[in-house]
Amino acid sequence: MKKSVFRMTVCLLAVFSLLMVGTFASQAEAAPKYRWKLAMTWPTNFPIFGDAVVKMADLVKEMSNGEMEIRIDSKNKHKAPFGILDMVKEGQYEMGHSASYYWKGKDRNTLFFTTMPFGMTAPEQYAWFYYGGGMELMKEVYDKHGVYSYPGGNTGNQMGGWFQKEIKSLDDLKGLKMRIPGFAGEILSKLGVVVTNIPAGELYTALDRGTIDALEWVGPSLDLNMGFQKIAPFYYTGWHEPATELQFMVNSKKFDALPKHLQKILEVSMEFAAYDMYARSYHESAVNLDKIATEYPNIKIKTFPKDVIAAMKVENKKLLKETSAKDPMFKKIYDAQTAYMKIVRRWTEISDYAYLKDNLDE
Ligand code: CA
Repeated sequence: MKKSVFRMTVCLLAVFSLLMVGTFASQAEAAPKYRWKLAMTWPTNFPIFGDAVVKMADLVKEMSNGEMEIRIDSKNKHKAPFGILDMVKEGQYEMGHSASYYWKGKDRNTLFFTTMPFGMTAPEQYAWFYYGGGMELMKEVYDKHGVYSYPGGNTGNQMGGWFQKEIKSLDDLKGLKMRIPGFAGEILSKLGVVVTNIPAGELYTALDRGTIDALEWVGPSLDLNMGFQKIAPFYYTGWHEPATELQFMVNSKKFDALPKHLQKILEVSMEFAAYDMYARSYHESAVNLDKIATEYPNIKIKTFPKDVIAAMKVENKKLLKETSAKDPMFKKIYDAQTAYMKIVRRWTEISDYAYLKDNLDE
């Protein structure tokens, strides 16, 4: 009798301790050790860009088995779409999602890590980032700002923008009010365009009310959703953003304080989300371009006249050289990109370009 009571007690204790272990285990999953916050430039539920951020955060949570969780705040919450770099630097947010060229007012060298007019295409630029020295140069630039910067998703080649009037000559650019950020904005302002940068949420109204005469945003992947096709009839092919890469930012001190396995999980998740956004953008652009052709047949797809493109190229080179003369770091990155493009473009020419040219000729 005594023996069986003893055995029963042992059994109950065993079951009890198993239950306790189970409880602790599920508590560990329910309560992450690292709760981070990410501020993004984009509004709530913003397609493609916002989806890439959600994908990254979901991957981190799943791969860390709930040990790390990232809360995403859109610009509707933090109200500072162009304040992301400062907020991450100061540690108000551990992470950010934006675009590097938005910080050109603080540091012109951030321009190179989004895209450059007449620069590399997306596959060329990814090759440069990960294998051609791009990541190292980006680190050198962002170390000064207390953040680590990573590719954050590529839109692919962007369209030159929506215009109320056809651009037939350089004269048509004089006095034209256009939303266009980055280095391209500086080139156009040399050609007489009145350049502004306006956040995504205000673009439609600005074009509709005539505050601006033209704008560039992304391409069919996102432009159709913004409704520009309803208010501007001319849609130009691109020259200014051949490979727009968005940006993940992580506060350096917070990143360094993470355990090694979570650092790895975070980096892998960001890289995956970036590549995934490129594939998604390509798909959405193809589907939406088809929609433009069938649902908005009045939209005229145009390419800028040859002399306009030639003038843009001249101003681009001039600006790159002028800025290089003033800033050794700018020169270092410009030279690195130019040298890399020489090598990588030769391959593009005899691979994708040769293949497409032969097929398009048929
Ligand atoms: Ca753009």
